[in-house]
Amino acid sequence: MNYKSELQTAINAVEKASALCKAVQANLVSEESMQKKDKSPVTVADFGAQAIVIHELKKTFPNDPIVAEEDAKELGSDPLLERIMEHLDSHLPGLSEEEIVATINMGGHDGGKEGRFWTLDPIDGTKGFLRKQQYAVALALIENGEVVLGVLGCPNLSTSLYNSNQNLGTLLYAVKGQGAFMKPIDGSDEISVSVSGVESTSKANFCESVESGHSSHDASAKIAEILNVTAEPVRIDSQCKYGVLSRGEASIYLRLPTRKDYEEKIWDHAAGFIVVKEAGGEVTDCIGDKLDFSLGRTLKNNKGIIGTNGKIHEEVIKAVKEVLN
Ligand code: AMP
Ligand code: MG
Repeated sequence: MNYKSELQTAINAVEKASALCKAVQANLVSEESMQKKDKSPVTVADFGAQAIVIHELKKTFPNDPIVAEEDAKELGSDPLLERIMEHLDSHLPGLSEEEIVATINMGGHDGGKEGRFWTLDPIDGTKGFLRKQQYAVALALIENGEVVLGVLGCPNLSTSLYNSNQNLGTLLYAVKGQGAFMKPIDGSDEISVSVSGVESTSKANFCESVESGHSSHDASAKIAEILNVTAEPVRIDSQCKYGVLSRGEASIYLRLPTRKDYEEKIWDHAAGFIVVKEAGGEVTDCIGDKLDFSLGRTLKNNKGIIGTNGKIHEEVIKAVKEVLN
């Protein structure tokens, strides 16, 4: 199976959702954010982006289930729903409030090991979004527990991290067995991406969360010391980190548990995972175990995430184990 139609549909959906996010971010005001129960800020764009992506997916694949982050039950206040409707007016014209809420709620599937389903994080890195920094619209297709396709819309990521004159807004995507690619959002100049060729950890740099609550910065500093990594960490929000790893701008991605009971969500990793794998890298959990996307909405059998260019993976895992033990 070549997944041509799936990829085209996913790219189109992510591009449309990214455009909405960009428009909302440009006019970000405080009333457009609220506290979710888990205390992470969520925005009008979060629900709007979820509505757009699900609507687009269902047009082409009406029978595909979807595991998405947001639940319209969180949408307590009517004024917020009104704001969502205003923003969606040009994207999904003619849909009623009830239809939008029903669309958002089509993301409530439980996942699992049978058949295929999509998984969506409409805005990954909401904290970066609210800071007007990096965030991503992340969409992946999982089949019989394996990620087979992923698209990352990164509206604030240049096509080169070290040349800000490059196009702002990047799409990274991959299909299993077909390599990983990048293009400017809304553009067509596709190039293939590959991980760094670094073979010695002393020449490697790593990327990690901006939020120390999502990945321990103290532990990563200790790991850097063991591995003789001297470069400053690249701290960016969201699955943009997987994008940076896939194009060789960092050689290590560390996501080190800050809480024993935290279960990573499948939508936070599926798209980034396949982009890095198809770019030639490796992604496992903190002890080097394969990520298991077949267990429902979370990666309940894995702790933390380690991504590398593949060549230095074992060495990095060894250092991670040493520090976490
Ligand atoms: P990042 O931008 O990489 O820091 O990750 C953002 C994601 O971290 C959000 O989508 C949350 O789902 C997730 N998250 C929330 N709390 C935690 C936690 N304690 N540990 C790891 N990830 C978390
Ligand atoms: Mg997320």
